[in-house]
Amino acid sequence: MKKWNLVIDVAACTNCNNCAVATQDEFAGNSFPGYSGPGAPDVRTLDVDRHVRGEGAMVDVHYVPRMCNHCDDAPCMKVGGDAISKRDDGIVIIDPEKGKGRHDLVDACPYGAIKWNDAEQLPQNWIFDAHLIDQGWTEPRAAHVCPTRALRALKLEDAEMSALAQAEGLAVLKPELNTGPRVYYRNLGPALSQFIGGNVTADGGNVEGADVRLLRDGKEIAATETDAFGDFRFDQVANGSAGYSLHAKRDGQGAGQVDIEGAVETSRVVTVVLN
Ligand code: SF4
Ligand code: SF4
Repeated sequence: MKKWNLVIDVAACTNCNNCAVATQDEFAGNSFPGYSGPGAPDVRTLDVDRHVRGEGAMVDVHYVPRMCNHCDDAPCMKVGGDAISKRDDGIVIIDPEKGKGRHDLVDACPYGAIKWNDAEQLPQNWIFDAHLIDQGWTEPRAAHVCPTRALRALKLEDAEMSALAQAEGLAVLKPELNTGPRVYYRNLGPALSQFIGGNVTADGGNVEGADVRLLRDGKEIAATETDAFGDFRFDQVANGSAGYSLHAKRDGQGAGQVDIEGAVETSRVVTVVLN
């Protein structure tokens, strides 16, 4: 049986927020019996997270749309009882009647995808616009209004989706939880990792074409060359990893080394001086 999935391309997301605004517009003040109670302007069941890395002249930003993952082994359902159900098409719905007053459901989702609507005393998730899908829509409003097609809704057999995820290198959030998310991400790596980068100088000037190596615990793990501005960058350094050092050299201009202190919790931008 075919089920719904959402594929999000982080590299294509421009943070325009159309998806979040359209979702709020769809639900704020509107009740869809059997699907969702009225939403509220301050309850964002679909939002766009901003991840900024680096400092000074070496900064980048990635935007990651976040919402209910419609997990196949959903932790929320283990707590929710008959207040939460999964439809045959994979969509997870919090019953607006049975969920009333169930504030405990907010903490039952390890992704923070269940929001508390205080005015209605309701826990609410992004329901994949199931009320529209059941009227024949081929995608939720969030995907429909995305100008870059960063969001794509796909109704596929699970085996087809698994094959696609493998072929395209798609990732899910918190894979270690084994919740079976139906929301997949492309180009997620840089948003959830750090970089070690910087600049190589000699005699006060930038060094182009310097050979730069990244070592971990004394073993080389990556190599690159500085660009015309003397800049270099090693991406996808795991959050919290440690034991790194940078070694740079340029024929005729000497060599230099910088040890990266402590765990890499934020991206590091350093200057390596050759002498
Ligand atoms: S509408 Fe598309 S591009 Fe805009 S924030 Fe949402 S996912 Fe990103
Ligand atoms: S993301 Fe959270 S709310 Fe959605 S199905 Fe998974 S555990 Fe439940």
